[in-house]
Amino acid sequence: MSSQTPPFYHAASNENLFGVSPKVTAALQDALTRLPSYPHPDAAPLREAIAAKLGIQASQVMVGSGSAELISLLVRTFCRPAQETSVLSLSPTYPLYRAEADALGIAYQEVPLDSAYQMDVDTLLAKVDKTTRLLFISNPNNPTGSYLNQVQLERLLLELPPHVTLVLDEAYAEYVRTPDYTSALPYLEKYQNLVVLRTFSKAYGLASLRIGYMVAQEPLLEKVLQVKQPYNVNQLAQVAAQAALEDEEFLSYTLEATAAGKQHLQQALDQLGIHYWPSEGNFILIDAGIQAEAIFEHLLRHGIRVRRTDDAYTLRITIGQKEHQDHLIQILQDMLAPDN
Ligand code: PMP
Repeated sequence: MSSQTPPFYHAASNENLFGVSPKVTAALQDALTRLPSYPHPDAAPLREAIAAKLGIQASQVMVGSGSAELISLLVRTFCRPAQETSVLSLSPTYPLYRAEADALGIAYQEVPLDSAYQMDVDTLLAKVDKTTRLLFISNPNNPTGSYLNQVQLERLLLELPPHVTLVLDEAYAEYVRTPDYTSALPYLEKYQNLVVLRTFSKAYGLASLRIGYMVAQEPLLEKVLQVKQPYNVNQLAQVAAQAALEDEEFLSYTLEATAAGKQHLQQALDQLGIHYWPSEGNFILIDAGIQAEAIFEHLLRHGIRVRRTDDAYTLRITIGQKEHQDHLIQILQDMLAPDN
């Protein structure tokens, strides 16, 4: 084992640990000369760039200060504490759906994933009632890496009653490799109650700038506009996102490096006999069979921060550079199989 400890491995927030496009840093340098001006109020150039990429109209795109802001805006648009409204999602999933509902005093319902952390459309549909206004599905799902496949998505879209808006949070969609997954973007034309969320925080490497976007039909976005503040996305973020979108080469590099890193980590986990769930994201959920807290603390002492979950046995690890992952694997091996 090398005597040099690699720099801190921040494996807790699913950021892009392979960096950011050099085109982004160049665009930011240029934008720094215009700091005294307000940002573009409705982010028109960026929304047009996103729309052109997706083959839709800019009026079907809204940008937010991270997709987190858009989640908050959706809850504020569709749910009212004084009325009988509720938010529905899965469990375990991204905790912000519940946090936003809680913050506004809105009822939050959840449907557990099955024992293999897969989604079940029947159970989801059975949980929908007359109060349900929003159904959030993280697809792929954070923290499990599991996903709603095309057949399941189509069923949900067909069978969900129109008073429920289906929000497909596709924060990790760029990483997906399995052929039976589909983004919900192609279904937007047909369904008025569908929203797709995307972010620049993951594959595009812009987590620090806070920028994401939402795509839906115009009448739905007009409702959300009523609760959105002007200038919600700063100019540096707008400029960086546009440059990131144009650099397909960097995106491919990220996706390749992440896939290779995921394969490397999975092989090592197999060898160590550590259970993990197949993941379509840039992260892996593991269950080492012992209390996760002990592993978490041990890794932290060795310069690696992973993410704890609500489950006492599982931990989520963001795919990182090979040097970082090798260090992680070594520490896990020393801890869990010291006689090897
Ligand atoms: N959705 C999911 C499923 C996420 O995992 C995250 C970030 N961890 C977000 C949304 C929020 O991303 P951001 O606000 O950085 O766009």
